[in-house]
Amino acid sequence: MFNNLTDKLDKALHVLKGHGSITEVNVAETLKEVRRALLDADVNFKTAKEFTNRVKEKALGQNVLTTLQPGQLMVKIVKDELTELMGGDTAGIDLSGSPSVILMSGLQGSGKTTFSGKLANFLKTKKSKNPLLVACDVYRPAAINQLHVVGEQIGVEVYSEEGNMDPVDIATKAIAHAKQNGFNVVIVDTAGRLAVDEEMMTEIANIHAAIKPNETLFVVDSMTGQDAVNTAKTFNDRLNFEGVVLTKLDGDTRGGAAISIKSVVDKPIKFIGTGEKMEAIDVFHPSRMADRILG
Ligand code: GDP
Repeated sequence: MFNNLTDKLDKALHVLKGHGSITEVNVAETLKEVRRALLDADVNFKTAKEFTNRVKEKALGQNVLTTLQPGQLMVKIVKDELTELMGGDTAGIDLSGSPSVILMSGLQGSGKTTFSGKLANFLKTKKSKNPLLVACDVYRPAAINQLHVVGEQIGVEVYSEEGNMDPVDIATKAIAHAKQNGFNVVIVDTAGRLAVDEEMMTEIANIHAAIKPNETLFVVDSMTGQDAVNTAKTFNDRLNFEGVVLTKLDGDTRGGAAISIKSVVDKPIKFIGTGEKMEAIDVFHPSRMADRILG
């Protein structure tokens, strides 16, 4: 993961690493390379430009040219800024409701159903919660079935209603069912389309308005690059979601989407998916990700 970006940033910073003395030209050249590496990794232009400007300001502010190990200081500044760009600290999720309701949003194939299962499993095994999964994809029986398979695998009940074509009704009844039966987290998996369309956005906005979730999470395939950023923006405009889930970070992704999404929608990345197994879930740590990107 992130090999491309890592290699490029490493190359860009290599010039400075271990340099006894550097010039303003060195710094400018390096920043240009850093910017290019970010752009190559699908970070959008504005974000990359702002990023390098901030690094430059900080570098000059800390008199990078006159310190003993300017290269190391530059690397540290880039790492700190990268961490900041990805949200700084780890963001938690709100589990205060009784039950706490978590709504999944995103395109078909982004990994919503898989992640719903992973999150339920995570909350059950790591947070001692008693979650209920809800199947709200009324168009694809296969999707409902998939959630049942996942539920069985992790030993979590799945609420679905065969023949009911009204996802708002299903979600509302599921929450009532949770209240009556002692489930303290409800995870609502919704229908997705292959591209954003008005009908789907209206449907999920209606579900959102009806169940007033504690958390709406936008699930996005990290392999989808700049498209991911545009999709995130569209969903955020409609749902004002609480956080982002980046899936498929185990694949050969260029990773820039992670950086851009955070800066474009200004919502924290909360979790990452790193495989198809139910255990392949991690809380997102900006500083660890920055370490990984920079090597
Ligand atoms: P949905 O349509 O949004 O519900 O997406 P699914 O949960 O059905 O996932 C689509 C495909 O991506 C499935 O084949 C999943 O096994 C796969 N998938 C989901 N999350 C991950 C992940 O983190 N890593 C990998 N490698 N595959 C994933």
